[in-house]
Amino acid sequence: DSRCACPRASAVAPGLTSVEAKPGAARPSGCAVPALPSPTYRTRYAPSPTGEMHLGHARTHLVAWLRARAAGGRIVMRIADLDPPRVRPGAADAFLRDHEWLGLDWDEGPVFQSAPERQAAYAEALVALAAAGHLYPCTCSRREWMELASAPHGEGPPRYPGTCRAGPSHPERPAALRFRLHGPTPRFDDLVFGPSGGTDEGDFVVRRADGLVAYQLAVVVDDRDQRITEVVRGADLLAATGLQRALFAALGAPAPAALHVPLVLGKDGERLAKRNGARGVRRYREEGLEAEELLGLLGASLGLVPPGSRAPRAELLERSETLVEGLPRRPLTLTPERGDA
Ligand code: GLU
Repeated sequence: DSRCACPRASAVAPGLTSVEAKPGAARPSGCAVPALPSPTYRTRYAPSPTGEMHLGHARTHLVAWLRARAAGGRIVMRIADLDPPRVRPGAADAFLRDHEWLGLDWDEGPVFQSAPERQAAYAEALVALAAAGHLYPCTCSRREWMELASAPHGEGPPRYPGTCRAGPSHPERPAALRFRLHGPTPRFDDLVFGPSGGTDEGDFVVRRADGLVAYQLAVVVDDRDQRITEVVRGADLLAATGLQRALFAALGAPAPAALHVPLVLGKDGERLAKRNGARGVRRYREEGLEAEELLGLLGASLGLVPPGSRAPRAELLERSETLVEGLPRRPLTLTPERGDA
């Protein structure tokens, strides 16, 4: 038997030991982690500290937590603070506190994308991509290329029409760097949405004209360096995964599996946002909602427990075997008035 004889680590589900650990705390020492299939499951939370943690984040992060803990894997807490002017002071700490309150703990990090060491990794990746001929400078303003792109057949968001491929349209301006796509994005099988990718997307920005690294690049370099094996995130990023797969291929790195969680919508059927009633997890907590009530609501929305349940995370974990198959495929509206599931 290759499992550790330590009673805490040989509990029913490997990984449950870290449930008892404080967020961010290392695993208890002196007790080996049970042998796990290799490569060990690794995922991440990647909140943007530009606003509050709302129910959509909480639901997606609960799915990541359940996947990781059921697999005996690890979770990296990554703070996506790439765009300093949009970062709200205190928002990263608030995310961490909300996570702690919900018991959605993590094993590594927080790793801040703004940290010099991460910025150096992004810069290095940009150099490698440029050296391999994948990038070109682009000086079009968004308005300029959108005008060109909103021509006839348009379905979906406008695509960059490739204006600067042959050379910068306005050489006097500071240039962004775009990644050149040579056709449809790579195809992949999303665990929830099935066959995905293979769509025509325009060449996309990897470094903005103001010098800031773009999300698409940073997320790929982080997923590579943090050895993420499965990305769990909101379905609004399904198309972005195609772009990111192209970047993984260009960097010669294996792409993680993808699990996109259908979105939680506001009362008006639009993406959850302040204007359509999204309230931060913190507000519910301050109004006296208990973590187990909120976990119950989220668990019910994932089809794990009956509506109206209080659900400790351990109970959700026990029921999570059919999580992926049972995950409702459609976006849903959550109107979590207290006691309302
Ligand atoms: N920052 C994004 C969010 O908060 C997630 C990005 C990702 O998971 O790649 O929804």
